[in-house]
Amino acid sequence: MDINEKVAYIRGLTDGLKLNENDDTVKVLNAVIDLLEDLTDEITDLGELYDELSEQVDEIDQDLSIVEDDLYDVEEDDDFDDFDEDSEYYEVVCPTCGDEICVSEDILIEGSIDCPNCGENLAFDFSTLSADDINGSDDED
Ligand SMILES: [Zn+2]
Repeated sequence: MDINEKVAYIRGLTDGLKLNENDDTVKVLNAVIDLLEDLTDEITDLGELYDELSEQVDEIDQDLSIVEDDLYDVEEDDDFDDFDEDSEYYEVVCPTCGDEICVSEDILIEGSIDCPNCGENLAFDFSTLSADDINGSDDED
């Protein structure tokens, strides 16, 4: 028996007693049963609304996970995938446009790269380094 049936049962019992409706106690009893019927209706409506909302939340959750999957796919397709994790990369700032460029060790050794942002040819000139800079120096003079 759900609450609707229980309230209907109580209503049926009191109706069957043929109580004197002018009696103050009976008035209170009927008022309480009226209230129970109202509460039962409200709870039933809320239960249906809750079920509806649950379904909608489930749908939103499913839609969201599709969006998340798409989003992460896009991020994985981004530039970062092109990097070879095994190689060393250096950040170089283009003196012309100020863009930061990731350069692999191979390109550094090659000596130059065109800035992907402004097209400026960036040369890596190691000849300006002194022998001390390259070899390191213990001289504190
Ligand atoms: Zn540049």
